[in-house]
Amino acid sequence: MEPINDANCGWLHGIEKRNQAERIKGSHTADYLIVGAGITGLSAARQLGKLKPNKKILIVDAQRCGEGASSRNSGYLVESTLNDGFVSNKKLEGYREKTNMYRNGIKAVKNFIDNHQVECDWNECGKYYASSDIKDKNRLIEFSKTLESIDINHKLLNESDLKNRLGTNFYKTSIYTKGDVMLNPAKLTRSMIKALPNNIRLFENSKLIKWNKSNKIINCFFENGSVATSNIIFCTNGFLNSLKINSNYSFPLLLTASMTRPLTNDEFKSIGSPKEWGVLSVRPMGATVRLTADKRILIRNTAEVSASSTLNQKKMQIRKQLHQSGIRKRFPSLSDGIIESTWSGIACRSGNATQIFQKKDNNIYIAGCFNGSGLGLGTLFGEQIANKACGNETEEIKLIEKSKSPNWIPPEPFLSLGIRLRLMKDRFHAASDT
Ligand SMILES: Cc1cc2nc3c(=O)[nH]c(=O)nc-3n(C[C@H](O)[C@H](O)[C@H](O)COP(=O)(O)OP(=O)(O)OC[C@H]3O[C@@H](n4cnc5c(N)ncnc54)[C@H](O)[C@@H]3O)c2cc1C
Repeated sequence: MEPINDANCGWLHGIEKRNQAERIKGSHTADYLIVGAGITGLSAARQLGKLKPNKKILIVDAQRCGEGASSRNSGYLVESTLNDGFVSNKKLEGYREKTNMYRNGIKAVKNFIDNHQVECDWNECGKYYASSDIKDKNRLIEFSKTLESIDINHKLLNESDLKNRLGTNFYKTSIYTKGDVMLNPAKLTRSMIKALPNNIRLFENSKLIKWNKSNKIINCFFENGSVATSNIIFCTNGFLNSLKINSNYSFPLLLTASMTRPLTNDEFKSIGSPKEWGVLSVRPMGATVRLTADKRILIRNTAEVSASSTLNQKKMQIRKQLHQSGIRKRFPSLSDGIIESTWSGIACRSGNATQIFQKKDNNIYIAGCFNGSGLGLGTLFGEQIANKACGNETEEIKLIEKSKSPNWIPPEPFLSLGIRLRLMKDRFHAASDT
């Protein structure tokens, strides 16, 4: 899969265009090369620049820096995910550790924002897991017990609470969790580019085509140049597979999202003038829906296996209609045609919803595969993989390394077939909530 971004992301339209982009030309040497300049790579670069001020550190991206999934996501910085099956204490302990890791992720983003005085529409407004089917109430009650036992501040809500808070009577049952943050991902990512230390050199539109290791040096080849580096850190997330890195442990999924223009005052009043909110579906493959601070509605309700990282216009139009129908179901008072932008992005998944954090072969490091929660974990894993590459063992690394690694997954064509079947099943069960 080629890393190609479409030009339609609503978050990116709202921030200023960057004009400078240096490409790799000729031969370079480096002490450290970071491949992939999304949230993870930028966080690794920031930390490495701090720890190794006198070393030569390069970061490269195949596209414009940070304009992949890192700017195209829904902007949920989460403390918890909805998982089932916590029937034994052992599993509960695993969930507690996972939550602690998410909390470290939130802390890492918060520290970054405070240290660099970043403005990214940060709102500690929590999030909702909601369903339009009252049958999901029992599942949420069970989940509430899990949250209770690991001290996650939450509240079960019914239809009328939800109508007041969200401005729609679509949802019948929900859990509100308090510790999550809504933000603007493009503003966050852009601020990470601005915060790169001076000793970091950034190359864009420079795709790593192939690489090999000879003696202790890693030789990396680009269209118009090369880099010979003593250490390499791979932060290419959904594109790890394309570089044949940990191919049997993660896979890319193509997601699409749409964002409306800001609602007019009348439209906003027609939905009850609610405060900013974010809803995740109780059912896998159900819709993620947000009302942003500037009164836009964002919806993401598709996920698919794809050979390419963008969709042609016709396919994108079909996804947009699905987004439109999702908005119509929730907000019948709003007219069609208010969607302003529709885009795609590549997320990285593993079979068992775990992440990759790995030192491989002495001077090769990998961080990625965040299963749709990369805002916090990408920042955390990026900073910590830089620590790892410098030989610093931290408490955060201990916690990350304690968690499970991704399961082995079968090669193609079995992989795509298996994912398609799973997505089809999830889509069927979530049909009412897309
Ligand atoms: C639509 C959507 C909604 C999401 N919603 C959320 C959310 O609400 N909350 C959340 O936490 N997460 C969410 N995610 C996931 C989140 O966006 C990712 O986990 C996060 O962006 C990962 O950051 P990253 O830096 O690891 O990867 P990316 O942002 O994907 O960056 C990887 C970079 O590597 C570059 N690259 C790839 N191959 C090469 C190569 N050969 N040479 C050089 N560079 C290369 C790419 O161009 C890219 O810029 C969502 C994702 C999508 C797509």
